[in-house]
Amino acid sequence: MKYVVGVDFSASQNACMLAEYETGRILRKKEVLRGAFYKEPNSPDDSPRPLDCYCPGLPVEDRAHAYLAGLVQGFLNDAGIKKSDVMAVGISLAGKLFSDGRDGKDVLFMGANTPKRFGKTESGRTSINATRTLRKEFRGIPIIGGNDCNCTGIAQSILYETRGIGPKKTFYLTISTGIGGGGPKEDADEIGHMVIGNVHPAVSLKCGCGVQDCLEAYASGTGISNFAKKIIWLYRMNPRKFAGYASYEREVGRLLDKNGRPFNLKEAAVKSMLAGMINEKQRKGEAFTAKDVFKAMYKKDLLAYHILNTTARMTAEVIASTAQIHDLERVGIGGGVGANNPKYVGMIQKHVNRILIKGNKMLPKGVIVEVCPLGKAANDYGALSLAMPEKYRAQWAKTMLKATGKKR
Ligand SMILES: [Zn+2]
Repeated sequence: MKYVVGVDFSASQNACMLAEYETGRILRKKEVLRGAFYKEPNSPDDSPRPLDCYCPGLPVEDRAHAYLAGLVQGFLNDAGIKKSDVMAVGISLAGKLFSDGRDGKDVLFMGANTPKRFGKTESGRTSINATRTLRKEFRGIPIIGGNDCNCTGIAQSILYETRGIGPKKTFYLTISTGIGGGGPKEDADEIGHMVIGNVHPAVSLKCGCGVQDCLEAYASGTGISNFAKKIIWLYRMNPRKFAGYASYEREVGRLLDKNGRPFNLKEAAVKSMLAGMINEKQRKGEAFTAKDVFKAMYKKDLLAYHILNTTARMTAEVIASTAQIHDLERVGIGGGVGANNPKYVGMIQKHVNRILIKGNKMLPKGVIVEVCPLGKAANDYGALSLAMPEKYRAQWAKTMLKATGKKR
């Protein structure tokens, strides 16, 4: 039998997957909970990572590719698989790819959570080599790297193709701690850093990337809780500015409930449970998260609805713009926030429909936004889909369909 190997080489956890070459059936999986770049929660960015202790004799910039090759070799040994039976390796990376290995060269990348010391600096840019050792050990087979969101987007496009949707017309958007995107069109992974206009200055937020008003600052998991805290803070500490924000939102027609009826933001804030939730979490020493905002909305809290309706609108603006640029038909939404809240995905769809009015010239059919159909198979098939042989695409699609059906 012939095989392909998928490696998830993300910021904290690592995983290896072994699949049948012809069908994509997953035969074996191994997870490393504290991967090469793992950092203890709340520890500083420069704190030691497992890679700092790995093969101390090796120069620090050569440890990532040695580690990754060791991971794959150990995995194959445990499975009793010969190297010569592996036909391709796909590697999913949390970061920006500078070279993806499709030209037979090394895979080079750098991630926001990857310490620079593990990379090499050339002409001002630091990148980590993920594959030098692996390419020596597996000569002559494709070893391909991809940004993690792009990988999932490619896997998703294989499924969409079975429904008759052209892979290049599909896009994957993940809403979790941050926001990322991707798919067969590989140039939109940093979609979370598109800037939102029309934000009232009293609630404006700065993104982790340093830019004011990125989508991610409001509509990622972290963003939603920060945005809610900002509005509650304004309501409690600065009634004058809160009133200014409320009147602005009313003027531009954004103070409407889910049935399109106008409401009063101050009254919604008086009745809201959010302030109480924030206090209680603080008292218990726990973090107030996006989950709390969703919980309040599902209990019919109007302020929570306003907050999430705002972040859904912002997300829809970015999706609509991306769809116009890339001629998209279908957007699948994943990540903890996206995949667990189909109602929220519906709210995003409503705004996309409002923006891309029927009969518009670029996308007359509009864009369908839905929960990513991969379900839990998203994690498994991301890296593997890079190693998928084109000639077995149809068989892989069938196997993947089955995998999502089983797990959902
Ligand atoms: Zn940003």
